[in-house]
Amino acid sequence: MKDLSLNTPLTEVRKIDGKRSKALKKLGLVTLEDLLWYWPARWDDFSIITPIAKVTAGDEVTVAGNIQSISTRRTPRQGMTITEALISDASGSIKVVWFNQLYLATFLPKGTDALLHGRADYDSRGLKLSNPSYEKQKADPVHLGRIVPVYSATKNLTPKWLRFFIKPLLGNADKFKEFLPKKIIKKHQLVGLSEAIKQIHFPDSNKLLEAAKRRLAFDELLLLQINAQANKKKWVENLSYQIKFDESGIKKFVASLPFTLTKDQKKAAWEIFKDLDKGSPMNRLLEGDVGSGKTVVAVMAMQLAATQGFQSVLMAPTEILARQHFNAVGELLKDSKLKVGLLTRVDFKLANKDTPQKDLLKQISTGKVDVIIGTHALIQEKVGFKDLALAIVDEQHRFGVGQRAALKKINKNKKVPHLLSMTATPIPRTLALAIFGDLDLSIIREMPKGRKPILTKVVVPMNRTKAYGFIKKQITSGRQVFVVCPLIEESDKLGVKSVKQEYKKLDKDIFPDLAIGIMHGKLKKEEKETTMQDFFLNKIKILVSTSVVEVGIDVPNATVMMIEGAERFGLAQLHQFRGRVGRSEHQSYCFLFSDSDAENTLKRLSALVASNDGFYLAKRDLEIRGPGEVYGLRQSGFPDIQMASLMDTELLKLAREDAEELVKKNKLDDYPAIKNKLRKFSNVLHLE
Ligand code: ADP
Ligand code: MG
Repeated sequence: MKDLSLNTPLTEVRKIDGKRSKALKKLGLVTLEDLLWYWPARWDDFSIITPIAKVTAGDEVTVAGNIQSISTRRTPRQGMTITEALISDASGSIKVVWFNQLYLATFLPKGTDALLHGRADYDSRGLKLSNPSYEKQKADPVHLGRIVPVYSATKNLTPKWLRFFIKPLLGNADKFKEFLPKKIIKKHQLVGLSEAIKQIHFPDSNKLLEAAKRRLAFDELLLLQINAQANKKKWVENLSYQIKFDESGIKKFVASLPFTLTKDQKKAAWEIFKDLDKGSPMNRLLEGDVGSGKTVVAVMAMQLAATQGFQSVLMAPTEILARQHFNAVGELLKDSKLKVGLLTRVDFKLANKDTPQKDLLKQISTGKVDVIIGTHALIQEKVGFKDLALAIVDEQHRFGVGQRAALKKINKNKKVPHLLSMTATPIPRTLALAIFGDLDLSIIREMPKGRKPILTKVVVPMNRTKAYGFIKKQITSGRQVFVVCPLIEESDKLGVKSVKQEYKKLDKDIFPDLAIGIMHGKLKKEEKETTMQDFFLNKIKILVSTSVVEVGIDVPNATVMMIEGAERFGLAQLHQFRGRVGRSEHQSYCFLFSDSDAENTLKRLSALVASNDGFYLAKRDLEIRGPGEVYGLRQSGFPDIQMASLMDTELLKLAREDAEELVKKNKLDDYPAIKNKLRKFSNVLHLE
């Protein structure tokens, strides 16, 4: 083979036909390096060879033997070819049958030593192997007789072809330069990079495979952690506003609240106050289940900032939620002299008073408005602030790169605001550290007292009418109902419920005498506003909606959440829907409708029935679907993780400690190889 470098394009490594070449490109595999870095999705252990005499019907086995006879015939009627062979080893012989593999008689002629893998079964003429995979015996087999890599198959690229392609190129793994410091390799007893890459493709034993996985997983976690901590360090170096801790002022405000704070709310607030009192900017995530009372914690921080002459923004994912926050925050701050403004595309308002947009913007820029509420876009709009000291995003795990960049420029004095993001998707602490290592974390685990657990039931199709009867009773006694559907429009997907269809059915057939509303993302803003307002005012009794009501919506009088096509939602998401009810002293209910009896669906739905604890459910969801799905990591620009498990707390801890040391002591400069690796790790990773 000619001299290859890791940068050699695959098309120069060997001749590849057009289809495969395209398929490779689609996977992002262009150079030899890309290929060697494309790891198997799983491995099949075909290393155990069964003596032929020991093969019994129903077994999936690998046998090694000599082809005694082989011939192909055509079946007259079906137009199929059947290849029949006999293979023997020292222990015995077995018949082999392949269908439509005409070339086999030439490829494995009589006398060939071969490896076969497949299932054994009986027919009228005795035991046989049907359609086994095959390989000629050699010292270093590729497909059988070893632990075999299985690459994810895509169109025009089979795992078999990839094995055949990669195997002879593995020696080139020696060209990867070790980037980890010797000290770290020794400390954690890691295998070298080149060795790990060879073993990850064609492991010589299960033990060596595990060692390779551990090494490559460690790399990913380390790079992830270095990136997070380097970002954190950079962020903290910015100058921010010092918002002094004011014990008596805070106590007074807390005393004015209509409820007593929970211990966790107090603790979270205290952690935030400590951060605000530093001259360096906070970057904190506040986690708490639906209804755990995050808003008031945010308001406490904004209130503190405002009493010291600083401005805050509170941002929500939708205009409906922004408006709702505006009402709630206005209520909590009604006894103070602070000014709260709502700034969305449709509303420009000051609490208790309509103000023209022009005036509101002016009042914000002169510092007359203390607390500004809007959507997540608020900081990217051309709003001039006087001194924006605190920015809070609701229902978002973290401030995005763009948001942070905007916030760096938002104050004329170059100071950056303190950042607080809030999420109702509880993430276990260790996982949060893995994913959001640059954030500090506050967790509200305890719910306010006196909440009645929501009664959750899976409703089988037979009991649908009964459920409607129950709903009718709830409405008669004054309550309201949500109906959530997976789709907006009817679709070809038979049986999947749509908002429009259900709305029509409920409005015309089931509850012709009740006011029913419809809500989905395609409605005009004004329509959404009016409908929400009417639902809020109990003019609408049943709101049929898509998942747009997933987060935040607070209509305490609603007591029934009915979810159609429940199998189409994730566990965490179902829990969020359920969180729309149970917000008052009335007993609330959640009905899950599903036509699917797939095992995974049943598992998920019964978890929901059994538990009202969002943290527990998040954990279950993680077990069932994995972090990538649950947190939409890919969409949020999270780097590609091939090998690491974000749930491997042990390895994560090691990586985190090493990353800390490298970043804290500025040692990274001593290891340009790590820096280089970090850059390559993923193109979305930039040291901001
Ligand atoms: P979330 O964490 O989901 O954003 P909210 O902040 O909207 O929750 O709070 C849910 C409801 O609980 C609100 O009506 C709020 O006023 C109320 N609440 C918050 N804290 C307490 C508390 N300590 N005791 C009683 N009710 C509370
Ligand atoms: Mg909230």
